[in-house]
Amino acid sequence: MNLIDLSEKWLTFRQHDGHTTAGAVCDLVRPEWADLDAPRADFCGATYQLLIGLLQVRLAPDSRKEWLQLYHTPPTPEALQAALADWLPAFALSPDSGPAFMQDLDPLASQEPISTLNLLIDQGSDSNSYFNKTTQWAGLCPRCTALALFTLQINAPSGGVGHRVSLRGGGPLTTLVLPSDPQATLWQRLWLNVIPRQDLPADAGDWHSPRPDAAILPWLGATRISDKTGVPTPPDAVHPLQAYWSMPRRIRLAPPHQDGGCCEICGQTDIPLFRQYRTRNYGTNYTDGWLHPLTPYTLDSKNEKPPLSVKGKKGNTQYRQWLALTLSDSSKQQQAAAVVSDFLRGKARRLKQPIARLWCFGFEMDNMKAKCWYDSQMPLLALADPEQEKPLPARSSACCNWPASAPSCCANKSKPPCSAIRARPMPSRWSSRASGRLPKPAFIRRWISWRNSPTHCRYTATG
Ligand SMILES: [Zn+2]
Repeated sequence: MNLIDLSEKWLTFRQHDGHTTAGAVCDLVRPEWADLDAPRADFCGATYQLLIGLLQVRLAPDSRKEWLQLYHTPPTPEALQAALADWLPAFALSPDSGPAFMQDLDPLASQEPISTLNLLIDQGSDSNSYFNKTTQWAGLCPRCTALALFTLQINAPSGGVGHRVSLRGGGPLTTLVLPSDPQATLWQRLWLNVIPRQDLPADAGDWHSPRPDAAILPWLGATRISDKTGVPTPPDAVHPLQAYWSMPRRIRLAPPHQDGGCCEICGQTDIPLFRQYRTRNYGTNYTDGWLHPLTPYTLDSKNEKPPLSVKGKKGNTQYRQWLALTLSDSSKQQQAAAVVSDFLRGKARRLKQPIARLWCFGFEMDNMKAKCWYDSQMPLLALADPEQEKPLPARSSACCNWPASAPSCCANKSKPPCSAIRARPMPSRWSSRASGRLPKPAFIRRWISWRNSPTHCRYTATG
C-alpha cells in the first residue's frame, strides 16, 4: 500500500447527503465531498492532520491572495497528484526493505515481535478501550495500520524507559479551524488549516522542498537515536516541517499475513492483515523549543521554561478555555495554535467570514494509560481590528518556530495604542535556532511587563 498513490482508495469521503465513497488522497479536492469518515474518532483527527501536512508541504502558497484563490478554486485531482509525485516512494507502508511510512529504517530484527494491538493508544484494560473491544486479535488492514501508526507517532504518550513521547508531549490537544458554513467542502475544511508561506517565520528555511528528505520525513534516514551516546532533536536540528511528521517511536511492521481475515477495526475482510511489529526504545527525542502549528501552548510567565503544549483533558475543550484556545489569554500565559492565529490575523477578513468553528480533540493520558478522549467544537470569532493583518515578530513565543498569536485590540484609551507598543524594538526571532541562546534577561522583563499590561488583555469581537 502507498498512501498517496492514485490507485489506493483508502480514504472514505462523505457527501453532504451522508453517502460515503472510497477515494484516493488526490480525490480530496473534489467539490462533492463534505467531510471524511474514519472507523475511530482518533483516526479521523489523525487523517485530517496527515492531509493538512501533505497540503502544507506540497501546496502551501506564497501569499494570502494565492491562498484565497485556491480556497475558492481548488486544484484538480491531477494537479494534486502531480504535486505529490516526487513524494510517492516515501509513503509506502510496507516495502520489503528501505524506508517505510512512519517506520524505522532499521529492520529491528533483534527485537521480539509484538501484537499490532499495541499500536492503539487506548489499548489495555477493557474499561479504557474507548473505540474497540477485542477478544482475539486477528490484525489490522493496511489502511488501519497506517492510521494507527500515524496516530501513535503524533500523539505518543510515555511508554516506558526510553520510549519517547510525541513532539507535543503525551496526549496533546489539537485545534483545527473549520468553516461555519454547513455547505463547505472537505477541501475548504482542510485548506483553512494551511498557512501561506508569507505568514511563516522568515528564517523557516525552504518550506517548499521539491523532494522529500529525512530532515522533513524522518523515516527516510537513520533514526536520531537518543540513548546515552545519542543526540536530542531540538527545532534547529531538522527541518521545521518535521513538526507534521514527527516519529518518536522506533517501529517496524512485520510482513502482513496473506491468508486474509477480518480487520479488527474497520471489519474489512479477505485482505492481508498486519498482526505484529517490532519496536525498541530511544528513538528521536524531540526536546524543548518545538511549537506545533496545530496545538495551543502555555507560556512560562518568567520566560525561563520552554512553552508547554496544552493537553487533552477535562476542561481544555470547553468554554472555560475558549479565550485561550481561540484568541490567546495572556493572563493565563496561553497562546492559541499558530493555525488559529493565522485565521484570525488574515484569512477571516479575506473570506468575509468573521465566524468559523474551532475543532478541539485529543486523548487525556495518565502516562501510557488513556483516561479519556475529548472531541468538541466551539465558535471562533475574528477580531475587528485591521491591525491584526500586520505580521508580528515572535513576541509571545520563546524558542518559537511559528508565528505568534493574534494580538488583542486596544480599547483602553489611557494606554498607548497597539501600534505604539509594537514599535518597540523586538528581536526578529527568539529562537535558539537563530541565536544559539535565549534572550537577555533585561529584555525578557520588558516583554513580560508589556504582555501583562491591560491593553494587551482587552479585545473586541465581531459577528
Ligand atoms: Zn481496517
